[in-house]
Amino acid sequence: MQRFSVPSPSSYRLNPITSMATRSGSLIWFRKGLRVHDNPALEFASKGSEIMYPVFVIDPHYMESDPSAFSPGSSRAGVNRIRFLLESLKDLDSSLKKLGSRLLVLKGEPGEVLFRCLQEWKVKRLCFEYDTDPYYQALDVQVKDYASSTGVEVFSPVSHTLFNPADIIEKNGGKPPLSYQSFLKIAGEPSCAKSELVMSYFSLPPIGDVGNLGISEVPSLEELGYRDDEQADWTPFRGGESEALKRLTKSISDKAWVANFEKPKGDPSAFLKPATTVMSPYLKFGCISSRYFYQCLQNIYKDVKKHTSPPVSLLGQLLWREFFYTTAFGTPNFDKMKGNRICKQIPWNEDHAMLAAWRDGKTGYPWIDAIMVQLLKWGWMHHLARHCVACFLTRGDLFIHWEQGRDVFERLLIDSDWAINNGNWMWLSCSSFFYQYNRIYSPISFGKKYDPDGKYIRHFLPVLKGN
Ligand code: FAD
Repeated sequence: MQRFSVPSPSSYRLNPITSMATRSGSLIWFRKGLRVHDNPALEFASKGSEIMYPVFVIDPHYMESDPSAFSPGSSRAGVNRIRFLLESLKDLDSSLKKLGSRLLVLKGEPGEVLFRCLQEWKVKRLCFEYDTDPYYQALDVQVKDYASSTGVEVFSPVSHTLFNPADIIEKNGGKPPLSYQSFLKIAGEPSCAKSELVMSYFSLPPIGDVGNLGISEVPSLEELGYRDDEQADWTPFRGGESEALKRLTKSISDKAWVANFEKPKGDPSAFLKPATTVMSPYLKFGCISSRYFYQCLQNIYKDVKKHTSPPVSLLGQLLWREFFYTTAFGTPNFDKMKGNRICKQIPWNEDHAMLAAWRDGKTGYPWIDAIMVQLLKWGWMHHLARHCVACFLTRGDLFIHWEQGRDVFERLLIDSDWAINNGNWMWLSCSSFFYQYNRIYSPISFGKKYDPDGKYIRHFLPVLKGN
């Protein structure tokens, strides 16, 4: 097995006295992008600033326990994802501390909290990663308006994705490309393919006086109102940039595996050693830079004689992510059937009992139920496993609305991603992108092909162990 060595990272040395230097402070607002490496917002915030406030705002709706929800978690997110996020914040805090800074955690409605910080700390520069999700699109308009009315410079770079979705839409005459192949043609090579990424720092500016804003350390789950025994089985995937970098290095250490990666050939029932990278939760929270991931893959492809290509290659998977980000950004009401011009209008059934049976892993089909229990326990399943349960809920068997399945995934997945989740649900329900509605995943024989001895099924449905 050949080892992959990660390209040597470039380092940024802080130089407070530069021509652009300002003696006042800056604020870096972390939302996603929970990393130090390849983080242009952090780079800009630290450049030439004497003091820097790294802020994360805990939104109680997203983070605090809601006992009325159908699974442990808040009103918006399952507890696995909340724990993953807290681990990511702890890791970020510890990296910032090593560089002479720290994460300042505040609680409340994010916009209001941010305005208070800007007022109290009188910073001259506000930096945050650009976000295409509708929630942040709306919030960021208010934030930018407020900042410009108070003379605060805003820097909001695109660094969550390889491309700026707006650029691709513009190149395509104002509309997002609706097929992967046309997306590839229009997108070409991302600019990050050839740019050097800032991977580490020697130090960061210290934080300034924080005043009386109620700053705290990263809270524990218990401090957010969760009990110790909230969930019997937790996801095996731990959050954070350190974990993400380790996982990426390990996943791609076998160059032959990367070179021969063909997504449709992976085994969806492999759970002790998943058939894919499981980088999705790290990409979701920005614990890993997709641009760094891309560069690592490019370096491997340069070293090997032959490798697979998009759409099935590993690099092709990153481009699927870009494709859905672009279509989602350019399509009004992308997360709905009604008012969504790319979505077929289908008279789906309403069936709360069937929906609950699917959601709780109680359909009576062991393959489907095991996948749904993996979702409940781990918050992650292989792509083809997601295909099976999404097809079963919608066009395959129950004929229930994709939006209802989407909601369950949105809550429970640790990689839950607005653009990718909605895009794939439309795909699987043949509402958009893909229309071969007669190609159905059998809830029996498809599972038997991959899990002939029932190892996967018995692991997630231990009640069947004796059978
Ligand atoms: P790998 O195969 O190792 O791929 C590497 C990365 O490429 C992934 O981490 C992901 O960022 C990206 N990628 C891979 N497949 C896709 C795809 N089909 N579309 C877009 N990007 C892709 N993925 C999410 O990240 N969040 C979601 O909320 C989500 N919801 C889904 C819902 C349904 C119904 C289906 C069918 C798929 C969904 N996916 C979602 C896509 C895909 O299943 C996961 O990205 C993938 O399984 C994650 O595992 P991995 O990191 O090991 O993937």
